[in-house]
Amino acid sequence: TSIPGPKSRELAERRSNAVASGVASSVPVYADKVDGGVILDADGNQLIDLGSGIAVTSVGASAPKVVEKVKEAVEKFTHTCFMVTPYEGYVEVGEKIAELTPGSFDKRAALFNSGSEAVENAVKLARTYTKRTAVVVFDHAYHGRTNLTLAMTSKVMPYKQGFGPFASDVYRVPMSYPFRDADGMTGQEAAERALLLVEKQVGAENVAAVVIEPIQGEGGFIVPAEGFLPTLTKWCQDNGAVFVADEVQAGVARTGKWFSSEWEGIEPDLVTFAKGIAGGMPLSGVVGRAEIMNSVHGGGLGGTYGGNPVACAAALGAIETIEEWGLNERALEIEKIIKEELGSLAESSPIVGELRGRGAMMALEFVEPGSKKPNADAAKEIAAKCLEQGVVILTCGTFGNNVRLLPPLVIDFDLLRDGLRVFVKAIEEAGA
Ligand code: PMP
Repeated sequence: TSIPGPKSRELAERRSNAVASGVASSVPVYADKVDGGVILDADGNQLIDLGSGIAVTSVGASAPKVVEKVKEAVEKFTHTCFMVTPYEGYVEVGEKIAELTPGSFDKRAALFNSGSEAVENAVKLARTYTKRTAVVVFDHAYHGRTNLTLAMTSKVMPYKQGFGPFASDVYRVPMSYPFRDADGMTGQEAAERALLLVEKQVGAENVAAVVIEPIQGEGGFIVPAEGFLPTLTKWCQDNGAVFVADEVQAGVARTGKWFSSEWEGIEPDLVTFAKGIAGGMPLSGVVGRAEIMNSVHGGGLGGTYGGNPVACAAALGAIETIEEWGLNERALEIEKIIKEELGSLAESSPIVGELRGRGAMMALEFVEPGSKKPNADAAKEIAAKCLEQGVVILTCGTFGNNVRLLPPLVIDFDLLRDGLRVFVKAIEEAGA
């Protein structure tokens, strides 16, 4: 049918009378069955999925191992509350995640439901451990939608507009953004620019945590210049602050490593994870140095649903799938295919500024011809054109001028190329 088809249009009508309008959807079709890079909608249309539900369904949206483990778990029990009657799955996820995150030091983990909740808890832990309160974050950062994490998120529209006042003692400093920084600025120089502000405006002795996405997600898939992250981690070590890597979007095999921090060889004190960890089931967590993770009094961390047994079973299924199907390697193959299909656009198209990212987390930044002025209209138009052709593709960026590619890591490579060719055609039309 046309997109959206009649059934999706009917559902949209019902939705408008049932669902709050502040909850928006970027795609107007209603899903019926989803897996392996194909979204079958309510009208029977098949769309190519280059978004994975915002970097979640890396193993697919109904990966066999996840489905099997979820079924097994749900038949045993749906919930007890880990704070009341604990169970093995939670412990096993804690053991696994400690093995998979960078750093061979003694670690502990705590599980929650959403990425925002994981970030909030990382801040609680850092504050308790350091007995300090200041939190340093970066331009273009996205850390969530709860009140504290909104203070940490940078972009006002749509995330923060009208929702203040926000939590205090959060300080924002410049990110390393190679495409927009002065030519030749090194990662170390960019870090020193940020840290000088921290020292002068916050005071090193007040900093509980420096929180950063090793590759920024919503902010525009910004990969900091080499040396930026190690300079920050060293500063944290020297100044007694906790370094938190928010790996909610870039973690769990998305970039071709279990965690994107590995690309720069850094060992964060704490890592937050969510999205890709549980094959689509809601699960998040914080993992890191035992002395920090154990610094909070008993009962100080938790939540009714945190580390739900069915979500834990899904995580164990997703981790097994990533290992058995070699999905880290597959993420790198996806990067290669994306570069083959899109690599020449920065030279050939006047509206493409840059292709960047790592693994299956790549984006194009669109600009006004002949300049670096952000071109959000182009990104929007191109994403809409792709959708008309049955390709689901997401925009992102502080300036709204990036189109990001987040295919499931299990996507068939021919299907991926098909989707990318639709994307290229839309770019050529928009840039003509
Ligand atoms: N941190 C990062 C880096 C994210 O990308 C996101 C979600 N886009 C969050 C935190 C918040 O996660 P959630 O939406 O699950 O609360």
